[in-house]
Amino acid sequence: VIGRIAANLGTPAYLVGGCVRDFLQNHPVPDIDLAIEGDVRAVAEACSAELSGVQCTYHAHFGTAILQYPDGFQLDLARCRIEHYPAPAALPEVQPAAIQTDLIRRDFTINAMAISLDPEKFGDFLDPYGGRADLQRRLLRVLHPHSFLDDPTRILRGLRFAVRFQLQLEANTRGLLEEALTQDIFARLSGARLWRELKYLLELSDLPAALEELGAWQLWPLLRPTPLEVESLLAKIRRGQQEIRWLHCHFPDEKLCDTAVLLTILWRDIPWAEAEKRLHYWPVADGRYILNDLHRLSKIPAALAAASHPSAVAQLWESLSLPGILALLAEYPESATITESGRYYLLKQRGLTSPLNGKDLQAMGLAPGPQLGTVLRRLHDARLDGAIKDKETARQWLIR
Ligand code: ATP
Repeated sequence: VIGRIAANLGTPAYLVGGCVRDFLQNHPVPDIDLAIEGDVRAVAEACSAELSGVQCTYHAHFGTAILQYPDGFQLDLARCRIEHYPAPAALPEVQPAAIQTDLIRRDFTINAMAISLDPEKFGDFLDPYGGRADLQRRLLRVLHPHSFLDDPTRILRGLRFAVRFQLQLEANTRGLLEEALTQDIFARLSGARLWRELKYLLELSDLPAALEELGAWQLWPLLRPTPLEVESLLAKIRRGQQEIRWLHCHFPDEKLCDTAVLLTILWRDIPWAEAEKRLHYWPVADGRYILNDLHRLSKIPAALAAASHPSAVAQLWESLSLPGILALLAEYPESATITESGRYYLLKQRGLTSPLNGKDLQAMGLAPGPQLGTVLRRLHDARLDGAIKDKETARQWLIR
């Protein structure tokens, strides 16, 4: 239908990019991208008018549109264009173009294929750079020698594709990667763009494979200053992923920054200033908690072993953020003290509050002020230590 609507407006439409790659591999297709050789807005609005319940949103700044179906399905429409990079790693200048030219601006041959939706040529397969053959040979190949210099994010995109689809870097592309790295190309990228790609990487389900690939591509310095003993790191990362799953299973509504857990594990042994330098540029949610945890984590195991009361143990766990706690659990799986007290804290103690609140204390005659906070903390500790259970025992405990 969309192909017909677009053709009637004289603006041919094509399926393009990742969805064509996924179709060819018989993989599920999460996103569908359409490339339009003409006025995107006109096509999107005509589709929305003809297709019942389909909403259209047009983004004038990017020349793109989204068609939102009532069941949640979404189509992204973009104008076929050519991109010119005024400087390495700069954002591109764009101009309208035909589909053949649009395909060459893309990152890899496997993402530079299109299928015509025009009723006259419906299903015609456009593969000018040999993407299908590369998929069959499991090769990741850029389209032109300047590709990584124009846009270094393609390197990390490529790494993700290599892991997801078990692809090898084609020999010439490997040479271009090495050349780009000698030019310190990532230094020209903004922290926000670099972090966005690294975050996608950390979200891959096969993260251990991605980290191994990161080493093979000589990209460790992006994440940490020194390479490390990969096997032990990968084991910790796997346990970190298990801890994340454990938490989501027990607390499905809890908002957890998964990447903060993984970064804490990755950065446990690096100088604090190196972590701080990265977080200064990367917009990581919970970044300041990661830095706080990295300060404290190494002292916690000994302090836990020395703590004499349940309240002292709970206070140590409380001094860490939730990602920091999971990172510690992932680090010491064989320590019963750490595992048991960490799980007990998360399951039983973390949600506990003082049985009396500030109002209750004022009703008992305590004056408002900072001492109220101290009393509430002591009540909380007394509850953790089993000295009080409810409001009544708390009142008696206070009076005593
Ligand atoms: P995924 O399954 O991860 O969504 P995708 O290929 O659909 O894979 P998108 O980020 O949605 O990834 O990009 C859609 C298409 O846009 C890509 O297939 C590629 O053709 C093109 N593209 C995206 N980012 C770039 C880039 N940095 N440089 C060149 N082309 C790109």
